[in-house]
Amino acid sequence: MHTRLTEDLHLTIILFVAVLAAIFVLPFGIFRLMDGDYIVGLADFLMVGVTAGAAAWALKTGSTEISGLIISVVCTLGVLVSTFYRGMEGALWIFPLMMFVFFLSPPKAALTLIGVAIGAIAAREIVLPASIVESRIHLMSFLATSISTAVFSFLAARSTKRHSRQLMTLAAKDPLTGLKNRRGLEQELQFAASAQQEIGSQYGLIVIDIDRFKQTNDDHGHSEGDRILREFARLLIDSIRMSDHAFRYGGDEFVVLIAGTNSAGLSAVCDNILSRVRDTIRIGTIPVTVSIGAALQGEDTDTHSWFQRADKCVYRAKDAGRDRYVIDS
Ligand code: GH3
Ligand code: MG
Repeated sequence: MHTRLTEDLHLTIILFVAVLAAIFVLPFGIFRLMDGDYIVGLADFLMVGVTAGAAAWALKTGSTEISGLIISVVCTLGVLVSTFYRGMEGALWIFPLMMFVFFLSPPKAALTLIGVAIGAIAAREIVLPASIVESRIHLMSFLATSISTAVFSFLAARSTKRHSRQLMTLAAKDPLTGLKNRRGLEQELQFAASAQQEIGSQYGLIVIDIDRFKQTNDDHGHSEGDRILREFARLLIDSIRMSDHAFRYGGDEFVVLIAGTNSAGLSAVCDNILSRVRDTIRIGTIPVTVSIGAALQGEDTDTHSWFQRADKCVYRAKDAGRDRYVIDS
């Protein structure tokens, strides 16, 4: 849970909004209902209830985009209802509203929601003067402060989201080869497991380990070893389709996730990789070889055991003399 929160900014803000709504909005809702102000009381309860429900749903499904948008729409309407019925007391909530709407919704949706909220408040005040603020000068102050806050919230949310995306990309990428790393593989394996359950698409997993790579490093130096790793990564990318994914699992071990395949398809990819490596990657005149293990996605959705089946086949290929592939039967 802690890791999920530190990695998922969206989810953290959603939970934070739900907790703050329960602490700060719920007491107002109770007070309004006791005071006979049923419309604003119900609006407060609706905001707290929907925010809590959407937060629970985001926690369960991981789908934070839809939850964030629902929270943004309901809270914007809630703030408008409070403002129309309670005047400035309700309008003040537009400031915290702006801060989280820009984080929780796509930029265009957030701009629309906040634009509609500020516009509606200004329009009501023009049609019914002194219904929300005391005078025109107060309205001008309100517009100036709310629009400035909206602009800064928009810029802050955009920059935070951009940095968070860059960090996620960097964390899932191997700097030497540019391929996705083990972390990226785990994300794709989870995706493959759910795709199999939902649309019945079968995936194949190929694990590749370069043969006697320690010797290459020892005989020709680490930088020559690095060159081989980079060259092999490029070869992998050239050998697979757009829908397939290549990863550097670690050291001299690589993984390819093949979408929509069967055992004949897996064999074809393995054969292709073996022959391309033999033909194109060399140290001086000596061809580099690799050993490959592969496994089709089983009925089970346990991605760990699927990976283990493919990985064991690499050892069988090594034991059988290297420069070959073994497919889990
Ligand atoms: P085998 O055929 O059984 O796979 O023998 P091997 O020598 O390749 O054994 P193993 O796969 O266990 O060795 C991996 C080697 O990869 C060990 C390490 O020196 C080397 N290695 C790991 N990461 C890097 C790297 O980033 N750059 C370079 N140049 N070498 C690396
Ligand atoms: Mg090796």
